[in-house]
Amino acid sequence: MSNFSKDRHVAVLPFPFSTHAAPILSIIRRFASAAPDVTFSFFSIPQSIQTLFPSENPDSNIKPYVVSDGVPEGYVFSGKHHEDINLFLAAGKESLKAGMKAAEAEIGRRIDCVVADAFLWFTQELAEEMGVPWITLWVSGACSLSAHCYTDLIRETVGMHDIAGRENEIVKFVPGFSEVRLGDLPSGVVYGNLESPFSMMLYNMGQVLHKATAVAINSFEELEPEHNKVLESKFKKLLNCGPFNSISPPPPPSSNLDKYGCIPWLDQHKTRSVAYIGFGSVATPPPVEIAALAEALEASGTPFLWSLRDNFKKHLPEGFLKRTSELGKIMAWAPQVQVLAHSSIGVFINHCGWNSVLESIVAGVPIIGRPFFGDHQVDTWMVENVWKIGVRVEGGVFTKSGTMSALELVLSQEKGKELREQTGKYKEFALKAVGPKGRSTQNLNTLLELVRGYNI
Ligand code: UDP
Repeated sequence: MSNFSKDRHVAVLPFPFSTHAAPILSIIRRFASAAPDVTFSFFSIPQSIQTLFPSENPDSNIKPYVVSDGVPEGYVFSGKHHEDINLFLAAGKESLKAGMKAAEAEIGRRIDCVVADAFLWFTQELAEEMGVPWITLWVSGACSLSAHCYTDLIRETVGMHDIAGRENEIVKFVPGFSEVRLGDLPSGVVYGNLESPFSMMLYNMGQVLHKATAVAINSFEELEPEHNKVLESKFKKLLNCGPFNSISPPPPPSSNLDKYGCIPWLDQHKTRSVAYIGFGSVATPPPVEIAALAEALEASGTPFLWSLRDNFKKHLPEGFLKRTSELGKIMAWAPQVQVLAHSSIGVFINHCGWNSVLESIVAGVPIIGRPFFGDHQVDTWMVENVWKIGVRVEGGVFTKSGTMSALELVLSQEKGKELREQTGKYKEFALKAVGPKGRSTQNLNTLLELVRGYNI
């Protein structure tokens, strides 16, 4: 028996792609320090484990385990959409099952509870076979989750054929969505490849979440009250525990966190004058839009800080980097939370990925949204129409003129002030929620009790 043996053994199963595993690990770190009697076995694919656990920490009660990424030996990637995810999903149930068995043997204690990313719907069957509670974490908001829970109703009403040309039809029949356009629903519900492993994963998730002991979401109660009501009626227990990155911030910044010098650069700029641009860990605008966005920044004279991976710089207009060397700064990765908190940031141009939306709210910065896939569309719709904390770029794609109008609107017009006021309002709610007596903090404590086996 290893020295990890404790009073309770909890398996943590994150979805190992995009920004899922890191916020889940942050929550688990908080649980681990509050519950030193519990061993948390954390299962992920090799690359994710390497990133999340760069150094060994043998004393911690979180034990990382590598599980197979499902990539056959000698496999050559063809560049197909979601190829890595599809391979993982095909093998996921068996690899996680094998991983959990190995952890039980090593730790010398059976798993008492499974805490899984809601994406990994099939882990419900594993938990059932093991006779233990299945607790799920949804790293996004209630609005997108709601769409996945109402997929059958939406498909029955709208039909499962191509919605091309019908994107502007208003969906009125989904509880909580009084005005959403068909084209604003998350991909995989009525558009996109509905048969793909990714779409099937989301569909199956919507079918089984009601079996979870609890569904914890990365949101706060004041943000999505309508959707909360809807989901509360579907689940045994819905717990708003977010924003995850505020309630349980990732580990303290290492000394080279700001290795590109973003903060000193921002220090030189006027209050609320700079556009910060970043599209998360997966999305990048197509070349023509990168060029249009760059032209808009240059023509409008907007100071900018742009998180853009090096291999995409080639799509910038010729001579752009040289001409704008005083106006802007481009780097491969920015310390986003710290950047957004800087007083010189006036707007965040992003993809409306859920973490980015929440981080913008917490910093009180309005958004210009350019959604790509997944929940981006519905998040953008909420940003613009429900919370009124930002705008979708005209036509949903970057053009020089559309981007210039959006920048002018947010940075210089009365509308920008209104957006900032609204963002400030939600910022207050968010900060209160994660405060010592806030609802998200209370819900997180409830979640920990469930994980520890109390109240079940
Ligand atoms: N992020 C960052 N620096 C960057 C780009 C992104 O720190 O240059 C972080 C950001 O703070 C956020 C996450 O990456 O926490 C992106 O999450 P989001 O849900 O917005 O998008 P995803 O990566 O899932 O598409």
